[in-house]
Amino acid sequence: MAEMVRRRAAVRVFEVGPRDGLQNEPRSLPVEKKLEFIRRLVASGVKDIEIGSFVHPVWVPQMADTDELVRRLPEAPGVRYWALVPNRRGLERAFEAGIRHISVLVSATETHNLKNLNRTLADGLRENVALAREALAAGAGLRGYCSVAFGCPYEGAVPFDRVLDIADRLLEMGVWEVSLGDTTGVAQPDQVRAAARRALDRYGAERIAFHFHDTRGLGLTNAWAVLEEGAATLDSSTGGIGGCPYAPGAAGNLPTEDLVHLLDRVGVRSGIDLDAIVGVARWLRDDAGLRISARYFQYAVANE
Ligand code: ZN
Repeated sequence: MAEMVRRRAAVRVFEVGPRDGLQNEPRSLPVEKKLEFIRRLVASGVKDIEIGSFVHPVWVPQMADTDELVRRLPEAPGVRYWALVPNRRGLERAFEAGIRHISVLVSATETHNLKNLNRTLADGLRENVALAREALAAGAGLRGYCSVAFGCPYEGAVPFDRVLDIADRLLEMGVWEVSLGDTTGVAQPDQVRAAARRALDRYGAERIAFHFHDTRGLGLTNAWAVLEEGAATLDSSTGGIGGCPYAPGAAGNLPTEDLVHLLDRVGVRSGIDLDAIVGVARWLRDDAGLRISARYFQYAVANE
């Protein structure tokens, strides 16, 4: 009997490069360069872009100019610009600047919440309930991240039941979707396949996104595993920028061009033009001075 094919005809690629990518790069990009990066992403067909975060500039200096960036974002009908907001002050700044789509964040383990967000998991969820209520009342779109969902640099293995509990809580507070993050790139394909099966069954594909890192070279393999299970949204970062705060020099987020190339090859529509997104990565290397680790990029520039 033929196995049921759950793979989708079209997949939404959620670009996190300007936030998750740039916040982990050692050097900050000036706001003009960030705007050019975002303009080029839009021109490549990207429809969801996380453009920055409203964290305190002392913690993440790379994101200090997000207010100005939001004010100057290019008009782009059909494109959703997202910003990550960790607390009340961040939400105030986000609304003052005028962003319409808000992401909130919680880590799956107690230690990662304390080290990364300086609060307990319970406090983080409580804070996010308040943020979600305000954001939704203001008519904003809302996304929730669950970091270290597949393994934690401090606590090791993470029981997926706990991740589902957190996703339940995020969805109860009204997020449109929960992005399950392999923040330090420790996941493996059997693990994410089983996780995807459970999460997609429980919530439906429209409520779940997957966020892989290529730290140990399994980013695309993990993406493939969840695509086969019917995942409808994958996060990625053009050029694979972002690195890993725990492993200097290591690869960063799953590269958008590697993902788009895979989708193109298997006939899954993403709406993103592969040559154009490679061009964005080339621009990041040549004009923004970033190191580009993406495999497809290396191939494409070697064969020009
Ligand atoms: Zn990431």
